[in-house]
Amino acid sequence: MLPESAPYCPEPLQDILEDVSNCIIPGLTHWQSPNFFAYFHANASTAGFFGEMLCSGFNVVGFNWISSPAATELESIVLDWMGKMLKLPSSFLFSGTGGGVLHGSTCEAAVCVLAAARDKALKELGGWENITKLVVYASDQAHFTFQKAAKLVGIPPSNFRLIETSFSTGFSLSPENLRFVIEDDIRSGLVPLFLCATIGTTPSGAVDPIAELGKVAMEFKLWLHIDAAYAGSGCICPELRHYLDGVELANSISMNPHKWFLTNMDCCCLWIKEPKLLVDSLSTDPEILRNNASKSKAVVDYKDWQIALSRRFRALKLWVVIRRHGLANLMCHIRSDIAMLNDSKHLWEKMRGLRS
Ligand code: PLP
Repeated sequence: MLPESAPYCPEPLQDILEDVSNCIIPGLTHWQSPNFFAYFHANASTAGFFGEMLCSGFNVVGFNWISSPAATELESIVLDWMGKMLKLPSSFLFSGTGGGVLHGSTCEAAVCVLAAARDKALKELGGWENITKLVVYASDQAHFTFQKAAKLVGIPPSNFRLIETSFSTGFSLSPENLRFVIEDDIRSGLVPLFLCATIGTTPSGAVDPIAELGKVAMEFKLWLHIDAAYAGSGCICPELRHYLDGVELANSISMNPHKWFLTNMDCCCLWIKEPKLLVDSLSTDPEILRNNASKSKAVVDYKDWQIALSRRFRALKLWVVIRRHGLANLMCHIRSDIAMLNDSKHLWEKMRGLRS
């Protein structure tokens, strides 16, 4: 329906909008429709849209503090706000000893924390030749992005362990099975590196037992990452916060406000206990970016906490979402979704009863 090459002359906005209506919209899946129940439905809000609009309008590129100080400062504040809403220990917050960053996706966050874990381990082992010994663990319900991330940071795919789960344990990762696989790897001369535990797995909504897995991770000196991409938002409600019990044993945790937190795409929060490890892995120091603020080490340069140099002002969006809804209404939103789920469960059970 569209021409094969780009127009040479500018076209009227009216014509473009007509083509949007006639050629684009019929081919879209309407993710924000009330009739859409796949994947992550109705995850946007007017507040998120407004924040996104401001972000696009300002179009600041806050790769380091000096390039747009308010962008960095707001991001640090919002990450602490969000971390406090989730009752994360102060070891993950700027107001404590850690810190947080906004990425576009969990996939990016996974690559970054795996790179930090890899570099820490290789330093301890004495060099890059040991990379083939490093092993990554996750349950067979964990998101496939962790396998991709491990491959991207150079860990051989044969060193990725997908530990089997079962219906009887709600598809959660068993600490005993994890220990068994780790001990087997150690006997083979391999080095356990990283464990991904999930709160709300993509295929089954399973929740891994963080506290017990954390103890195993500490015993074998594994980097423990918690992927709470979609279900993490629920933990702002006190009655659901227990799913995060044991988070103090983790090295890093991520969740996506763009899934269940009324924040338009894209937005992933990543908190890390030792930001220095991320920076050691990802920092670059080209002449053109040198400045006194960075040299003083008194500021955060987020370019060293992510893969890309350029970055969007996503914090503005999350800040507007939190302020416009407030914690009270954000909790109402989560609770109303859960109530709908419970209603549909009751209905389903009733229908089954009627049939039998
Ligand atoms: N982890 C979990 C548990 C998820 O549900 C998803 C998305 O489906 C992801 C990771 C990937 O998230 P993203 O699309 O932000 O990379």
